[in-house]
Amino acid sequence: MSQYDVVIIGGGVVGASVARELSRYKLNIALLEKEAELAFGVSKSNSGIIHSGTQNPLGSLKAKLCIQGNALMRRISGELGVDFKEVGSLIVAFTEEERLELLKIKQESEALGVPGLKMVDRVWLKAREPNLSGEACAALYAPTTGIISPYRLVYDLCENAARNGVEFHLSSKVEKISALPVSGPKSGPRFEISTPQGIFKARYIVNAAGLYADEISKMAGVGGFEIIPRKGEEFLFDKKREHLVNHVLYPLPTENSKGILIIKTSDGNPMIGPTAHDVTDKEDLSTSDEGLQEVLESARKMIPTISEGDIIAYFSGLRPVTGHDFIIRHEDALPGFLNVAGIQSPGLTSAPAIALMVRDILKSNGLLLKKKIFFHKHQREENHLFAIPLDKTKRLVKKDASYGDIVCRCEMVSAKEVTDAIERGATTLDGIKFRTRAQAGRCHGGFCTTRVMKILAEKTGRRLTEITKRGKGSEIVKEERAN
Ligand SMILES: Cc1cc2nc3c(=O)[nH]c(=O)nc-3n(C[C@H](O)[C@H](O)[C@H](O)COP(=O)(O)OP(=O)(O)OC[C@H]3O[C@@H](n4cnc5c(N)ncnc54)[C@H](O)[C@@H]3O)c2cc1C
Repeated sequence: MSQYDVVIIGGGVVGASVARELSRYKLNIALLEKEAELAFGVSKSNSGIIHSGTQNPLGSLKAKLCIQGNALMRRISGELGVDFKEVGSLIVAFTEEERLELLKIKQESEALGVPGLKMVDRVWLKAREPNLSGEACAALYAPTTGIISPYRLVYDLCENAARNGVEFHLSSKVEKISALPVSGPKSGPRFEISTPQGIFKARYIVNAAGLYADEISKMAGVGGFEIIPRKGEEFLFDKKREHLVNHVLYPLPTENSKGILIIKTSDGNPMIGPTAHDVTDKEDLSTSDEGLQEVLESARKMIPTISEGDIIAYFSGLRPVTGHDFIIRHEDALPGFLNVAGIQSPGLTSAPAIALMVRDILKSNGLLLKKKIFFHKHQREENHLFAIPLDKTKRLVKKDASYGDIVCRCEMVSAKEVTDAIERGATTLDGIKFRTRAQAGRCHGGFCTTRVMKILAEKTGRRLTEITKRGKGSEIVKEERAN
């Protein structure tokens, strides 16, 4: 049985950010994740936008954390070498009434502290967004909006936290939490956490379990909120449409979402979506024809040339909704237990600020925070051929020929990148896809899946029948036969 100062439940962007922030201090920390790999929850299926903070309710926690998170993200991504691109965004108006609404959003956002906002007119838009509908009459430009790879961010945060001493336990679903009697030393454990991999004792628990945070909270004996999944369907375009838009384009926000967007992604494929409909099943990641039609209709209002034929992938994600705001608090009725729940959008953006808030709550509830003398803040460099110029690729191939062995032709991913991903922790096909983009192109892995499986089997000493898409139960090959 292992004993920790802090156990974090959930290996999404929130748990990962908290883990990295706490790894600056002399603490024993473990992160427990139920899936076979990190970032397999909500953090794998979102729009990857680092929002500027323009569409959040005044006075809300998420409004404050979104703006702080946006500022922190550029520093963290620089330290970790995650590709953060500050592309800017436009909220587009089509009528005089909508233009007046934008002025209101501008005023409210400035009051919140969103920097650099500017109203732009038809002439500005025509010069910078040539594919935008001629019906667009004005837009609110936010220069600080950025784009990032959400899963690569989680992997880099966790790799860095591990380098600074945090333990990561995968396939470790928390099944039971028991409060221990409060006798013994002041620094002794207060909780026993049961998982299939064993029992973990902790003085503090940070519940960052995404869609399941309500169930974890109830398991510990604290109720008080329910999570309603709000589905967002998204549709990804072929890279040949990379220059469809130059900014992230938003319509005016709706009652329950930022509306259907045209998104530049950090990997180059534009994306349209997401829808926003409440569902009952926390595992329902299906996409629908109605979702596609809704997204196409709305997106074409902004970019009329959008063609269904350019779509290469559909996916959906579920926002963990608990009402209108995030819940981030110490549960005084259960000392040592923190809920970080209802982290719907803009949770990706806010994650670094959430981590600071969690650190401060832990401190004000008795956790002693002593800084380590040495904190490794930088991540080692990672090369992605799709993101570097040809002369750099040539230099890499000269140094290591396996950079010239292209495994995924759609996305230009080499054997070296696949083996690097495995050495850095990928154990499944999806883990390799999220880290490298191999299998994420137009052919959906039709060409490269078998090769990726072979490399994974060779590197990990597993049989092909043991290779899975995303963990136990998703095996691809039933039996191996000798030739
Ligand atoms: C369609 C869509 C688009 C979005 N777009 C954006 C955007 O552009 N910008 C933005 O800022 N935000 C966006 N968001 C919101 C953002 O994705 C989330 O706020 C964020 O990913 C939440 O991270 P998390 O770590 O709280 O949750 P998760 O990533 O779900 O992490 C929780 C983890 O806990 C694990 N877990 C659950 N139960 C247990 C258990 N019993 N034991 C152990 N582990 C457990 C899960 O497996 C999961 O890995 C979007 C969301 C959606 C759905």
